Amino acid sequence: MPFNMKASLYILFTCFIFTVNAQINSKIIHSHNDYNQKVPFWNAYANGANSIEVDIILKDNNLYVAHDSHKINLKKTIESLYLIPLERALYMNFKSSEAILYLLIDIKSEGIITLNKLIEVLKKYPKIINSKSIKLVISGNRPEIKNYSNYPKYIYFDHQEIQNSISKSSLKKVAMISTGFKQFSNWNGKGRLTHIDKQKVEKIIKLAKKLKKPFRFWATPDSKTAWKAFSELGVDIINTDKPAKCFNYLNELPQKIAEIKSFSKVYTPTFKINSSKKTVKNIILLIGDGNGLSQISSTALVNNGELTLTQLKEIGLIKTQSADDFTTDSAAAGTALATGKKTNNRAIGVNPKGKPIKNIIEILFEQGFNTGIITTDEITGATPAAFYAHQKDRSQKNKIATDLINSNLNLFVGGGSVTFENLAIETKFQLIKSTNDLKKANHKVGFFISKKKPTPVQNGRDNILAEVTKESLAFFKQKQKPFFLLVEAAQIDSFGHYNDTNGVITEGIDFDKAITEAIKFADKDGETLVIITADHETGGFSIPQGNIKNHLIEGSFTTNDHTATMVPIFAYGPQSHLFTGVYENTEVFFKILKSISK
Ligand SMILES: [Zn+2]
Repeated sequence: MPFNMKASLYILFTCFIFTVNAQINSKIIHSHNDYNQKVPFWNAYANGANSIEVDIILKDNNLYVAHDSHKINLKKTIESLYLIPLERALYMNFKSSEAILYLLIDIKSEGIITLNKLIEVLKKYPKIINSKSIKLVISGNRPEIKNYSNYPKYIYFDHQEIQNSISKSSLKKVAMISTGFKQFSNWNGKGRLTHIDKQKVEKIIKLAKKLKKPFRFWATPDSKTAWKAFSELGVDIINTDKPAKCFNYLNELPQKIAEIKSFSKVYTPTFKINSSKKTVKNIILLIGDGNGLSQISSTALVNNGELTLTQLKEIGLIKTQSADDFTTDSAAAGTALATGKKTNNRAIGVNPKGKPIKNIIEILFEQGFNTGIITTDEITGATPAAFYAHQKDRSQKNKIATDLINSNLNLFVGGGSVTFENLAIETKFQLIKSTNDLKKANHKVGFFISKKKPTPVQNGRDNILAEVTKESLAFFKQKQKPFFLLVEAAQIDSFGHYNDTNGVITEGIDFDKAITEAIKFADKDGETLVIITADHETGGFSIPQGNIKNHLIEGSFTTNDHTATMVPIFAYGPQSHLFTGVYENTEVFFKILKSISK
């Protein structure tokens, strides 16, 4: 299965996915009590926090950075920790963006004397006080509101008396509005705000917003759930002790959230033939590459809570480890499914020593089956290749292509015609140009749906996987011989690698449409066993939040690689009961053989 897609294309996809959360990107991350960070100022500054909080105390005519006077460290002054680094950062032009940086100076000693001393010190830092992108905001012990306008133009204030009126001239000196969160709610940042608390919080935000200044809560819960909740509630300045994590999380949220607009029409199977002891005539094996339980769950949840796949009753779990690794790749996993033998990662249809192993397609051919492979990857991708090729490494594309030409397959559909440009594929396969041509195709037919890897669904691939599945089943049905058809939804994996939730789910929906065609066919045919599984999970995907009604999912990934978690297997049709339980991926091969044995 697929590995690389061009980065540029990828950026294109992610750009047009969402607008819903665009507002979250404009949030100001506030590094609360920043002097407690291991590296004050620089950590927050470098990691995207545009608001930095420092407590100051005037003592012996020095402005120390501390929460209270017995914690004073003589080395830590507002100059050493903040003004010198900030002046340096401005001098080096580290941030050329227009974004305002707020230095929130919380005065803990007497307000007016301390502020006067601060103004005296600031005169040594002309770059700071003349910068249009810096706002020095006085919080804590402040002068009376009516006197705000008497202070120099570079001094702003943190307005906390939301309920009181404020004159226009004083409001001009206000840089942000702040209030404590605890007076409205004791929410710990897990789950949701209670309905009553949410109303209280919304009310105060609405009031604060009337002043048209950025709004901040202090003393807030500090978690992903909380950061997201405050962002969605319209809080402009997100309070945190983890500025880097908070910035990364909120910044990456748009890419993590999928809002699905195209759905799979759920088909309810008849279950007439399900689990019967009847011998199986035809087999359809559908592999969702990288399609773990969270991938299936998210796809079902956005699809009004169900898929055709989730109608099925015979369900198991398979273990995916390869011969040489805890975590399999698609080559070893494909080989395990196709041959019933564990092999090393990267190996295609060969054992760990490199010796070819007979695959299910070769075995069934000898028993008089017609066989076919459909994929949304290049046809030489590792998963499809494991069902017709025998090569030591998945990267040996030309050799794999030659194996395809020499294979006994009756049908293949996939991308990657470019690999075959100098190979005599047309001596063995009739190449067709459209799905419709399948109707009149001869007994060995190939259909390249793209030169390289097929376009992803979210970039306009349309319904080709389901259509080709449907027509291929008609193609085999006409021939009146038993058949084995492999259908791979390859790009669920690709988007797992890219940590792109929308990509994972749109490919998952597309997969369910192909599954629907297979199940419908099985219901009509009565002698067909349908098996749906994955080769492995990709991305360490989880779905912490979402909204079923709005078809929204927030996905989270722990890796951009495969994981070793077990993957679900579903079966439908006669002998489908064979597939329940928990077992190794190699067992799938033996269960298929058992299902057809007379
Ligand atoms: Zn993969």
